Amino acid sequence: MKPPGLPPQLVSLARSIFEDCTQCRACQVRCAFLREHGTPKDLAGQLLGGSTGIARAFECSLCGLCHATCPMSFPLPEFFLAMRRAALENQVASLAPYRSLLNYEAVGASALFRLVALPPGGDTVLFPGCTFPGAHPRTALALYRHLRGADPAIGLVLGCCFKPSHDLGRRNFFESRFGTLRATLLARGVRTVITACPNCFKVFNLYGDGLAVRSVLAVLEETPLQGRTPVRGAAIMHTPCPLRFEKEEREIALRLACESGLEVERTRQGGTLAPCCGEGGTVGALRPDYADAWTKDVEKSAKGRVIIAVCAGCVKFISRRTPVVHLLDLIFFPQAALDGTLPKPKGIAAYVHRLRLKWRVWLENRPRPTRG
Ligand code: SF4
Ligand code: SF4
Repeated sequence: MKPPGLPPQLVSLARSIFEDCTQCRACQVRCAFLREHGTPKDLAGQLLGGSTGIARAFECSLCGLCHATCPMSFPLPEFFLAMRRAALENQVASLAPYRSLLNYEAVGASALFRLVALPPGGDTVLFPGCTFPGAHPRTALALYRHLRGADPAIGLVLGCCFKPSHDLGRRNFFESRFGTLRATLLARGVRTVITACPNCFKVFNLYGDGLAVRSVLAVLEETPLQGRTPVRGAAIMHTPCPLRFEKEEREIALRLACESGLEVERTRQGGTLAPCCGEGGTVGALRPDYADAWTKDVEKSAKGRVIIAVCAGCVKFISRRTPVVHLLDLIFFPQAALDGTLPKPKGIAAYVHRLRLKWRVWLENRPRPTRG
């Protein structure tokens, strides 16, 4: 029997987990959420039995660590995301705790912050995302200039990929807003999007039908910076959840980090078994204890070494507990990145830097009046 109000996709996922989960508990060992709420089989059984506990999926970070450890390879993040969507559709969960994040998303997608700048003849754009250009303004500009130096036809698109809404289960909203962004890019002639944020990389890969996606790290490996001064020290990579199953992207990040001169050790933190930085799924809004525990895991695995991250969100979150360096900062400003002397604007200052980037790029790309 199908529990009332639950979509068929969720019920079918729950059935397969309920029937085939062996209760081996490999997923529970690494996850505070599953340790508290039960194995996926327990949760699927409760759902199929008509339990109203689907809103608890907002306490799961959608990090995918359980999927990486499960011998049955259950798509558990999809299961919990489907529960989030169903919880909103059935009005048993509220978006009130996420107001500030949703406002942040709305501002990033607003006309004031949006920009599509594509040089004549170009079909490729850098999409730096929301957090990176505001929190790492010097690097964002240097990155854009470097890519333009290698290929003057590369443009820039400022906007939001709507990953926060996606992960909060706002399915219709996400599909409508991301669909509009995708249609706008295609109509303007964009065919390839170069993402600087792993979350944007994932969203464009999953939903950017008709748009090819490349990570900026892959592009940088093909167009390396010349004359970089090597730095010294021991470091480890932190893998962001969206790249957990993207082996090639992880390897590129590791090679670029090693090229800085740092001794970068391969650890589980840099592979498929990386712990979430604590920001995933906006869990901290409901369960700051889980978020803190996951960030502590990251800090613990570093054992005093420099942590290198490739996601501005991870950098922001981890830096609340321990020093962390964004790989793009390390590539463009190695010593300053390690010394912590690069500006790292927060709050209003970060918004101002996003507008400054927009203004500079708009000026560079504006149509020039022809003489005569
Ligand atoms: S996705 Fe992450 S937080 Fe959610 S159940 Fe799996 S391991 Fe736990
Ligand atoms: S790891 Fe997979 S099989 Fe084992 S308890 Fe978790 S969901 Fe079930």
